[in-house]
Amino acid sequence: MVKPQLTIQLSDTQRIPQVGLGVWQASDTDARTAVRTALEEGYRHVDTASIYGNEKGVGEGLRDAGTAREQVFLTTKIWNDAHGFDAATAALEESLERLNVEYVDLLLVHWPTPSQDNYVNTWRALINAQRNGKARSVGVSNFNQDHLQRLIDETGVAPVLNQIELHPFMQQAALRSAHESMGIATQSWSPLGQGSALTNPAILEVAQKHGRTAAQVIIRWHLELGLIAIPKSVTPERIRENFNVFDFALDASDLSAIAALDSGKRLGPDPSTFG
Ligand code: NAD
Repeated sequence: MVKPQLTIQLSDTQRIPQVGLGVWQASDTDARTAVRTALEEGYRHVDTASIYGNEKGVGEGLRDAGTAREQVFLTTKIWNDAHGFDAATAALEESLERLNVEYVDLLLVHWPTPSQDNYVNTWRALINAQRNGKARSVGVSNFNQDHLQRLIDETGVAPVLNQIELHPFMQQAALRSAHESMGIATQSWSPLGQGSALTNPAILEVAQKHGRTAAQVIIRWHLELGLIAIPKSVTPERIRENFNVFDFALDASDLSAIAALDSGKRLGPDPSTFG
């Protein structure tokens, strides 16, 4: 049974579930069980990447759960060592083989790696993958506004979304509004601040007020901002907890308490220099 959940319309024909399971730093074995648990709990969206080294486990988890392929929104990403048209095209084939699927729902360029100055050619490979049905939607990750504009200027095709570091301590207001004007959805990576936001007193206060956990409050905050969140867990109780966010709402005072936590400090690398 598909549980009621929120989805976002992308700029192509697809809709993406607003909560997905992230599996970074999970082994094949852990990813396999986590994906199965998540799908049994009602998740219909899984986020992996070739660099995570667990695409095989993710694919096995999909099959273990027995959920119909077309009901699951599956994302993978092209790593920094596969920039350029041919390398990215070959990398996708390898990902599809490891995942043991015919197509992914979303294929992302993982990082722009400006030092290689090759992401436009990589993007052309993704556009081609969408044309030949191997990726239903195509997008990017960790791109700044200039990188996005260059893709649009040079290919005429905008990514459907940009997956960026986004959590209560790094709220990305400027990039979010650039996305909005470009018709690009925003997906939040490390939505819980890699766990660091879960003990914040302001978050805990909101959680107590609603009788919810800190993780649920933060995930709900992403939903109310119109973001797509991919919290990571391999623990069944937490996977369940993180999906139990569709039956409550934050009010204006909750949202302003969380808005005040923004420090603009990254947990991850700076995309303008990484790779
Ligand atoms: P996250 O913000 O999802 O936090 C994960 C941490 O929080 C883990 O330690 C987990 O054990 C803990 N946690 C999760 N749910 C919890 C709960 N209910 N209660 C208590 N603790 C809980 O961090 P993340 O894994 O860095 O990011 C999520 C996903 O984003 C990744 O798995 C990956 O799919 C994606 N990601 C993408 C990029 C990129 O460059 N595109 C970079 C980092 C992560």
